[in-house]
Amino acid sequence: ALERYASIRETACVTACGSRIHLNMNAGLMADLPSLESSGAEGVGLFRTELQFLVRNQMPKRTELAALYARVLDAAHGKRVNFRTLDIGSDKVLPYMKPNDEPNPALGWRAIRVGLDRPGVMRMQLQALLRAAQGRPLTVMFPFIAQLDEFYAARAEMDKTIARERRLGHPVPEKIEIGAMLETPSLAYAPRRFFEEVDFLSIGGNDLKQFFYAADRENERVRRRYDTLNCCFLTFVEEIVTRCAQTDTPLSFCGEDAGRPIEALCLAAIGLRTLSMRPASIGPVKHLMMRVDLADLKAVIDAARDEGAQSARPAVIEYLRGLD
Ligand code: PEP
Ligand code: MG
Repeated sequence: ALERYASIRETACVTACGSRIHLNMNAGLMADLPSLESSGAEGVGLFRTELQFLVRNQMPKRTELAALYARVLDAAHGKRVNFRTLDIGSDKVLPYMKPNDEPNPALGWRAIRVGLDRPGVMRMQLQALLRAAQGRPLTVMFPFIAQLDEFYAARAEMDKTIARERRLGHPVPEKIEIGAMLETPSLAYAPRRFFEEVDFLSIGGNDLKQFFYAADRENERVRRRYDTLNCCFLTFVEEIVTRCAQTDTPLSFCGEDAGRPIEALCLAAIGLRTLSMRPASIGPVKHLMMRVDLADLKAVIDAARDEGAQSARPAVIEYLRGLD
C-alpha cells in the first residue's frame, strides 16, 4: 500500500468525476515539515502553534518564535502555511500560566478568548510571524471565533501590529491573508458580511463536532457515540459550504475527520474542496478520492437523508463496496 501511495504522491488529487480536491497537511513542529515533501501535501492547512508554548516552563521569546516560524516558511519552499494563533485553554494548559479552575474548560476561557483578553501574548506572536515572513506572503488564522466582534478585534490586532512594524522600519509581507476557524456552530450563522470580509474559513471539525453534539471530544464514553456521517452533521456542514459559496469565501476542513478516507470522501461529496490532515493520511485519502464520482456519492448521501437514516455511513459503505 505504501508503494501505491508513493506512486501517486506527485499526482494532483482529482476525483473520478473531475473535481480537483486540495489535500494539505496539519503540522505543529519543525520536525513535521519534511512530510510536506514526502506526503505530497500541497501546503500546511493548519500549523498549530501551541507546542512551542507547551513544551517550555516559561513563555517563549519573540525572537525564538520568529526564528522558528521563519524556518517553517523556509522549509515550505513557497507552499502555503496557515499559522493558527495560540489555541490554549481547555485541553491545552500552559505550565507557566495559573490554571484557572473552570468547571467546563472546553466551554471556558480558551483560544481567542484568552488572546483578546491578554493581548500581549497575541501581539508578540503576530509580530514574530510578521518578522518571520520577511516580506513573504503570510497566512494567519484565529482559533475558536464564535462571533463577529472576536474576529474584528483579532484582525485589528494584526492591523496594529503591521502598522507598528512599518513604523519600526521592518518589512511587512506583500500579501497577508487573515482567516478564522469555524469551530462553534454559531459562526455558521454569522451575518453575510463576515463571510465577505474573512479571507478564508477553516472548519475545525474536532471542536465543531464536539459542540454540535454537546459531546466532549476527550470523553471516551461519549466521543464515539455520534457519527461524523450522521445526516444532521453532514447537513450542517453542507450549509456552511453553501454559505461560503454564496460569498466566494475559500473554505477548508482541518479536523481529524479530514484524514479518515470515508469521512474525507463524504466531505468532498457535500462540497468541500480543501482538506487538511495528518501527513500519513494524504496517500490513503487521495487513493480513494481518485476512484470516486462525487455526484454519485452525493446522491447516496441524499437518498440516506431522504429515507430518514440517522447516519449515511451504511449506505456510503455499501456504495464503496460496489466499486471493487
Ligand atoms: C479542530 O478543532 O478540529 C482543530 C483542527 O483544532 P484542534 O484539534 O487543535 O482543537
Ligand atoms: Mg479546535
